[in-house]
Amino acid sequence: MQKNMENSFASALALRYNRRKIDKDSPMSNAPSEEKVLSVEHYTDRLFKFTCTRPQSFRFRSGEFIMIGLPQENGKPLLRAYSVASPNWADTLEFYSIKVADGPLTSKLQKITEGDMVLLGKKPVGTLVLDALKPGKRLYMFSTGTGFAPFASLLRDPETYEKFDEVIVTHSCREVAELAYSRATVDGFLNDPEIGELGRGKLKLYQSCTREAFDHEGRITELIRSGALFDDLGVPKLDPATDRAMICGSIDMTKELKGLMEEHGLREGANSDPADFVIERAFVD
Ligand SMILES: Cc1cc2nc3c(=O)[nH]c(=O)nc-3n(C[C@H](O)[C@H](O)[C@H](O)COP(=O)(O)OP(=O)(O)OC[C@H]3O[C@@H](n4cnc5c(N)ncnc54)[C@H](O)[C@@H]3O)c2cc1C
Repeated sequence: MQKNMENSFASALALRYNRRKIDKDSPMSNAPSEEKVLSVEHYTDRLFKFTCTRPQSFRFRSGEFIMIGLPQENGKPLLRAYSVASPNWADTLEFYSIKVADGPLTSKLQKITEGDMVLLGKKPVGTLVLDALKPGKRLYMFSTGTGFAPFASLLRDPETYEKFDEVIVTHSCREVAELAYSRATVDGFLNDPEIGELGRGKLKLYQSCTREAFDHEGRITELIRSGALFDDLGVPKLDPATDRAMICGSIDMTKELKGLMEEHGLREGANSDPADFVIERAFVD
């Protein structure tokens, strides 16, 4: 009994000592690491992207999200969930962000410039991963607003094209200017002399605008219901035998699309139970 007590006391002490020894930048520490901002690009008064350094120990699956943020005056970190927009093979990390005027984080984050520091969490997670889907022929990635971010990662991942013959990424926004990031990301990838070949002839970007005149107008759910999406793309209607889907956007959009997927016979999947479609909300209200 006495021996057991001594042992457990000794192991508690050892644990405390080891915890103190773990450097905050070590992969064993849970504290966020400080990463240097490498570039910032503003698209509209509500949207911007930035890139930062990637710690060597930071591993993630394309499509996952992580906590990022800034230190506060009281020394504590202010962190929010962000999809990693860069693919998992890239040397640097990319994020695509909203600017909320009175948002605790983004009212400050929108002011970062090259050379500033941002905080990066240690534990990437999420449901928008290829592992959560059963094999299929055609992969749809449906997004609204900053919900395009996880797909910016997945559409640049070679594994996406190993698993699917066709990849259709949709992005719907209110204004035309809000579609600039998805267009630049897809064009940049397809025109890349080293990796663009992976997506050429396989990847299609379908953008729609809900408040301004554009090539495709209306919400993605309306375009699916009317059949316009499939006619425009020249593909058959959704079919659980061939099609898989990933969904990321506002609460209303994700809820409505989930219903539409189920109406077409697709079943929701998860990491632990791969199926036909997966969902993630782009933000929580
Ligand atoms: C799983 C997950 C992944 C996310 N990925 C991203 C991402 O890649 N990029 C990103 O910009 N945000 C993302 N978010 C939202 C992000 O976590 C923050 O909410 C956002 O950065 C605003 O932070 P804030 O502290 O300024 O304001 P908050 O207090 O967090 O939000 C204030 C209000 O702003 C609105 N809002 C928040 N985020 C958004 C958004 N992205 N688009 C439209 N309205 C919004 C909501 O109505 C919210 O109530 C994600 C959220 C979740 C849950």
